[in-house]
Amino acid sequence: MKRVSTKLRWFTSLFLLAFILSTVLAVPLPAQASSSQKVVIAKGTVYATNMYIIRSGKPGPVVMIVGGVHGNESAGYIAAGRMINTNIKKGTLIVLPRANKRAIDRNVRYYKGHGDLNRDFPTSKYGTPDGTLAKAIWAAVKKYDVDYLMDMHEGYNYSKLKSSSSVGQSLIYYPASYFRSMVNSIIYRLNSNISTSYKKFSLLRYPAKGSLTRATGQYLGCKSFIFETCTKQKLSTRIYYQQRAAKTLLSKLNMI
Ligand SMILES: [Zn+2]
Repeated sequence: MKRVSTKLRWFTSLFLLAFILSTVLAVPLPAQASSSQKVVIAKGTVYATNMYIIRSGKPGPVVMIVGGVHGNESAGYIAAGRMINTNIKKGTLIVLPRANKRAIDRNVRYYKGHGDLNRDFPTSKYGTPDGTLAKAIWAAVKKYDVDYLMDMHEGYNYSKLKSSSSVGQSLIYYPASYFRSMVNSIIYRLNSNISTSYKKFSLLRYPAKGSLTRATGQYLGCKSFIFETCTKQKLSTRIYYQQRAAKTLLSKLNMI
């Protein structure tokens, strides 16, 4: 009886070993698995906000998507928030969905007494950002060596209307070599489904001095742009445009 149970144990062990070996050999593991990491920027301060780093595990561009620099531009921070689950096949995607969390919580452009976050970034080559939050965002762009930066915003009117002083429905980029064709294709893709001419997206250059996109484009060598939807449209439409622009950028870079 004892011999039988010993044999049985041997058979069971051998079978298990064979099973494990066949599983390991038959299913090759990816060379490097993708991963997603949540970090907190401006940690330990009232500005603390989550940032998501999605790594494909393969070499490629570093793209950063920012939402909520202005707290009352909801399509931007909602669309950015939906990008944190994006599967990428190369490079790194960094998403900072609720950059100015305190302003978002109060649904205001900027938090009372703190001025406009999008004018707090350097305006000269050796300049430094103003304030804790701009410093933390600036440090993140440098730390992760961002190549492309999309900042999601909204305007109150259509940029193509002559009476409008708003930049709603536009893409404003900092000119860099080979970047124009990329942003042009984003605009082209969006406009191909818009029939009303004044509702089409405009392609503009030079974001305002002191803005995140201007400073990263001019002083850090990022290919940066602001993407502006128009709040005269339905929220779901604006979120769709924001995500479509972001996904077009990622697909042009062969990341999705
Ligand atoms: Zn804005």
